Amino acid sequence: QEISGGYCFFKGEIIPLADANVNITTHALNYGTGCFEGIRAYWNPDQGQLYMLKGLEHYRRLHRSCRILKIDCPYSAEELLDITVRVLQKNGYREDVYIRPLAFKAAQVIKVTLSGLRDEIAIFTVPMGDYVKTEGLSVVVSNWLRVADNIIPSRAKVTGAYINPALASDAAAADGYDEAIMLSADGQVSEASSANLFVVRDGTLVTTPVTADILEGVTRRAVITLARDLGIPYEIRNIDRTELYVADEMFLAGTGAQIAAITSVDRRPVGDGEVGPITRRLQEIYFRAVRGYEDAYRDWLTPVYG
Ligand code: PMP
Repeated sequence: QEISGGYCFFKGEIIPLADANVNITTHALNYGTGCFEGIRAYWNPDQGQLYMLKGLEHYRRLHRSCRILKIDCPYSAEELLDITVRVLQKNGYREDVYIRPLAFKAAQVIKVTLSGLRDEIAIFTVPMGDYVKTEGLSVVVSNWLRVADNIIPSRAKVTGAYINPALASDAAAADGYDEAIMLSADGQVSEASSANLFVVRDGTLVTTPVTADILEGVTRRAVITLARDLGIPYEIRNIDRTELYVADEMFLAGTGAQIAAITSVDRRPVGDGEVGPITRRLQEIYFRAVRGYEDAYRDWLTPVYG
């Protein structure tokens, strides 16, 4: 279903989405020279409140992506958060929402460069439930490798770089899998097509380091925080492909994916093929926290109304 209706932020103003258009000569459309974010806001029906999740962290990452791409973002992370709150209020959502900030080279010129080009910032929002199912995912180790940091910077959320996960997830779907796990060029596990990866081995949670060509995920950090607070031992280290075959549990962590339990990899069951206890525990607390039911994690949330 195509996105339509409502209001967005474009060229410094909140305007109808229908009026937020770019010219076909736009640099970012031709060369993929933009960066973006994906943020969720969760509706809490009991409180009549919409909570934006970790908005500042996402906008700080957008700033880092902009630095890497030499995009001039005239707004501070706090200002972008305020603008987003105003867009959400204007749309008046009473349901879960996905927020898409976009910073791109708006110049209408033909030149393969990052310098001397006019930039534009836009934010649009769209109602969204689960992006993938949150349990029982079957994944495949893709033969598409994850873009390396010195090919297209992995820690920047670069628009054009999403051809890489799109190839992987499209191939995975064509073969009947829910998601693709990508290896880095040196053969280590990197991450999924649009989420970071965690495994559990002998009661220890393991995720790949930021040097494994991953996107520095906001949800990944949230999971590490939860593990620390719950006393679950965790390690941040490289993961070999065959560790996926002997892991007790495995899950995706991402804004879209949320915490999504993987129960098979390359058609082999993960652990006993059921959602494991550590994944279950992390999911339970995460899904409560994002809707404002966990006081300890209220600082993750920005209330949109009142
Ligand atoms: N890796 C990739 C390639 C992604 O697109 C995403 C989604 N933004 C993630 C990881 C997860 O990051 P986050 O938890 O910040 O959404």
